[in-house]
Amino acid sequence: MTDYQKPRRTKIIATLGPATDEVTVLRELIEAGVDVVRLNFSHGHADDQKKRAKMVREISEELGRHVGIMADLQGPKIRIARFKEDKVTLDEGATFIIDMALEPTAGDVNQVGCEYETLADDVSQGNRLLLDDGRIVLDVDSIDGSKIHCTVNVGGVLSNNKGINLQGGGLSASALTDKDKEDILTAAEIGVDFVAVSFPRNADDMKEARRLVEAAGSQAHLIAKIERAEALDVLEEIVDASDVVMVARGDLGVEIGDANLPPVQKNLIRLARDRNTAVITATQMMESMIENPIPTRAEVFDVANAVADGTDAVMLSAETSVGKYPIKTVEAMGRICEETERQPRSTLSRHRMGETFERIDQAIALSAMYVANHANIQAIAAFTETGSTPMRMSRISSGIPIFAMIPDEATCRRVTMYRGVIPIYMKLYQSSSMDMSRAAMEKLKQLNIVKRDDLVIITTGEMTGQHGGTNTMKIVQIE
Ligand code: PGA
Ligand code: MN
Repeated sequence: MTDYQKPRRTKIIATLGPATDEVTVLRELIEAGVDVVRLNFSHGHADDQKKRAKMVREISEELGRHVGIMADLQGPKIRIARFKEDKVTLDEGATFIIDMALEPTAGDVNQVGCEYETLADDVSQGNRLLLDDGRIVLDVDSIDGSKIHCTVNVGGVLSNNKGINLQGGGLSASALTDKDKEDILTAAEIGVDFVAVSFPRNADDMKEARRLVEAAGSQAHLIAKIERAEALDVLEEIVDASDVVMVARGDLGVEIGDANLPPVQKNLIRLARDRNTAVITATQMMESMIENPIPTRAEVFDVANAVADGTDAVMLSAETSVGKYPIKTVEAMGRICEETERQPRSTLSRHRMGETFERIDQAIALSAMYVANHANIQAIAAFTETGSTPMRMSRISSGIPIFAMIPDEATCRRVTMYRGVIPIYMKLYQSSSMDMSRAAMEKLKQLNIVKRDDLVIITTGEMTGQHGGTNTMKIVQIE
């Protein structure tokens, strides 16, 4: 259940998979505090994803919780084809050929196929190819038609369909494949709340995704997974074209080198917050818990550091989808987030003192946070139709919970992504801002969020039903 009195601010995203398909497990997972579930379209069939989504909706209804659903598109992940014997062992110094013209199942210790037809055009002599998340390293010696001749720099076991990354980036594939376009239709049919675009190169890839998502009749918010080296050169444009960005440390680390990841994570989180976009930190956060019931100290620090960096959400992948301890992982992650959030460094805000506002609702949102952080306020209640006021509020660090009072279930599910924001569904029968404040106070009392004499900030718009109409902020004392 949502702990309304002491809600965790940082949101937890859990990937669903075989390990969570049992309804009792999924219910426990959601009860353990998952805010958003991720359907990974790189694995499984559309029917699996539909079934999972349906179960999530049923359970959240039953528990009275808002849970967002994310469809994560596969994107142009480039993979080798298959080996006759399913796997080979490559020796350091040996030669190896990737051949786009080779039969897909004809791979052996000398060569393997690849479906990505333009790979030979995208790479040149001296390039380095990283296979299986960098476990195997191939140096490109020459290109000869459809064949890329390589020397094995780091060898090992290579099995069917492993991924290929080009060190430094630069593969030309557009972000949306035919499969992704199909999957967008499935996602729209499911009614997902977020669509994650894998490997976007630039803002245009995100704009194309948005066109397709809207054309499919979906209102899902768009997540840009930052996982290509070239995306780092145009981060601001990508952030501005997206509702959420993800520090996709898996593929990004392969392309730019692991040691370059920490500064990128910190910069991207800062940039996203400054530009009023939400941000997810993803991949290997609790990796050892795929096999073990407790995290390593390094993982505890990794989650804590992401929270201290200001991330909106932390994400679990294999830990929950195929791990042995999905529930324990969510619980452990939640504990680490809560403890880190309590530290003064997490609640201290810079308050954007130099900023000027173009819009009234934005001025109100940030003023409310200034007051909240500088007076003895117990809670903020923000009436919103689109979620934009609480989103702006949550860009400012604070220890005070932001309750988003929302007359629409889909918006409730989308604000699950924002740090410190808790959605409360509330039909708006009231027309005046005075009536709305009263209704909000009643609701907060009902949920035991506030008690007599507490001070609460309420923001409203005078014209309900109007987007971006917030123009009023008041401080009320609970009677
Ligand atoms: P993936 O994306 O898990 O879909 O590969 C996340 C990442 O690359 O970190
Ligand atoms: Mn990835």
